[in-house]
Amino acid sequence: MVAALSFVFPTPDDTMDFGRALGRALRAGDLVLLAGPLGAGKTTLTRGIADGLGVGGRVSSPTFVLARVHPAGPAGVPLVHVDAYRLGGDLSQLDDLDLDTDLERSAIVVEWGEGSAERLSDDYLVVRLDRREDDVREMTLEPHGTWADRTPDLVEMS
Ligand code: ADP
Ligand code: MG
Repeated sequence: MVAALSFVFPTPDDTMDFGRALGRALRAGDLVLLAGPLGAGKTTLTRGIADGLGVGGRVSSPTFVLARVHPAGPAGVPLVHVDAYRLGGDLSQLDDLDLDTDLERSAIVVEWGEGSAERLSDDYLVVRLDRREDDVREMTLEPHGTWADRTPDLVEMS
């Protein structure tokens, strides 16, 4: 059976809930790219992921830093949250962050990184969020590499 990879989230809590399910499934080495326009819910989803992963620190949109490291909780997996919005599409600075080293021991979630961050791994999950006219959010999952096998479990869990 092919799992449906499109979802509708009427409220921020719905988006958070999916993030929690995703966060519970994350391990060191996992890369998640969040795509979609400003206000689509990428940071909201990241809050859910952080909660599901049980990491410390508040998730916000990092204005002055590109990346914020959330220390590991009981699951033992730190979360690196990257928000490349302020780079305005010039993603060359992402190379300076040495995210490939982080990825060995952390899970990484990247907002606005599509077009560059996927170079970090053959295995990554793109989560595409969009805001409908009625304000409801739509989410589509685009699994790459081993995420193709993991995504159906994730859909079942959420
Ligand atoms: P992004 O990081 O994509 O720019 P944010 O998560 O920072 O987006 O902001 C999304 C905004 O939209 C928040 O103010 C949130 O409360 C609101 N919102 C309304 N409905 C939803 C929903 N279903 N999912 C996520 N956010 C929602
Ligand atoms: Mg954001």
